[in-house]
Amino acid sequence: MTPLQPGATLGVLGGGQLGRMWSHAAQALGFRTAVLDPDAHSPAGLVSHVHVCADYLDPEALAQMASQCQAITTEFENVPAEALRQLGLTLPCAPGDQPVSVAQDRAREKAHFVQCGVPVAPHQVLHTEADLDSVPAHLLPGILKTTRLGYDGKGQVRVASLAELPAAWASLQSAGPTVCILEKRLPLAAECSVVLARGFDGQMVHAPLQVNLHRDGILAVTEVFENALPAQTEQQALQAAFEVARGLNYVGVLCVEFFVLQAGPERDALGPLVVNEIAPRPHNSGHHSIDSCDVSQFELQVRCMAGWPLVTPRLHSASVMLNLLGDLWFANGAPSSEPPWAQVLALPGVHLHLYGKTQARRGRKMGHLTVTAATPSVARRVALQAAAVLGIAAW
Ligand code: ADP
Ligand code: MG
Repeated sequence: MTPLQPGATLGVLGGGQLGRMWSHAAQALGFRTAVLDPDAHSPAGLVSHVHVCADYLDPEALAQMASQCQAITTEFENVPAEALRQLGLTLPCAPGDQPVSVAQDRAREKAHFVQCGVPVAPHQVLHTEADLDSVPAHLLPGILKTTRLGYDGKGQVRVASLAELPAAWASLQSAGPTVCILEKRLPLAAECSVVLARGFDGQMVHAPLQVNLHRDGILAVTEVFENALPAQTEQQALQAAFEVARGLNYVGVLCVEFFVLQAGPERDALGPLVVNEIAPRPHNSGHHSIDSCDVSQFELQVRCMAGWPLVTPRLHSASVMLNLLGDLWFANGAPSSEPPWAQVLALPGVHLHLYGKTQARRGRKMGHLTVTAATPSVARRVALQAAAVLGIAAW
């Protein structure tokens, strides 16, 4: 691909916070940005040169994106892959519709991991109620997940025993027949993720390994510093992430999420890794890179799309990222009061990012903050102070 020049317009499908931070990065490099999102107040639409406010499959909207943009990406994995396929007929897309359609379907995603030879949780795909009879007992206790449209822990139910499976299945079928996947619930010692970028020429770089804490299925805290996990675990994660990306002939930024299993009875003893899932885009666990690395995940996405050189981000600061969910606006039971930003901004190394969403709702990602520091212990101490000020539970 001939590298694009500044002044070209880069397009994104989806107008959420990822698109907003991507747009900031693209504009810093001199590009114009265009967003396709049906929401008139989308966070990315508000900061882009062009906002095509329409459905993702609206033919006129797609024609408008195709005529105004020189390359396309997505920031939301549930944008119909068909929209990317159509745009891909005339424009470079990073990522393309094929890998996105794999990431949109947990069954295809798992099959891809298996094909790449990377370890996954024991699982079984369930197409119809009759399939429930063939589920082996060793998959329980498990988690039943819809294969499509799940995110932030939505579209999944914990299932303690075979006897509970029919009710769990029925609860996920309430909005219409849905293929599901039952995964064995694994004893996790930790969770981690790798953000990588792969260019049109196949060159790959990766951001530092991220250690993630989820609460209620939603990412709550990400910690990033050297040697946060043993070197062997890190190597396994990087190798697996690269395999997964290569196998998809992936172009763009990809996040690969892992479970680190418990090695034995002790909760913190680290055992082997299994791949959980991929996100075909920058990822919440990579937000720290804006403030802690010399190249952010969003700049990498821009560089991929533009055919510009990829460089390995250098972590210059230990960092801890806290997600700021809408729940914080309801502290002390008071509806919609603004959290005490001045108090957290008075702490050293705090970088506050708010996404411009006007309506706070419980569980809604309103922003994040990253604490950077010279050492992991200082980053963690300040992050715990910020969490205490905001009413986020310590970890
Ligand atoms: P989502 O697409 O909503 O992020 P995930 O499959 O990543 O869904 O599940 C969300 C979280 O639930 C994971 O980060 C992990 O904490 C927990 N979880 C999911 N699957 C398993 C499993 N098989 N064993 C143990 N914990 C799991
Ligand atoms: Mg996940």
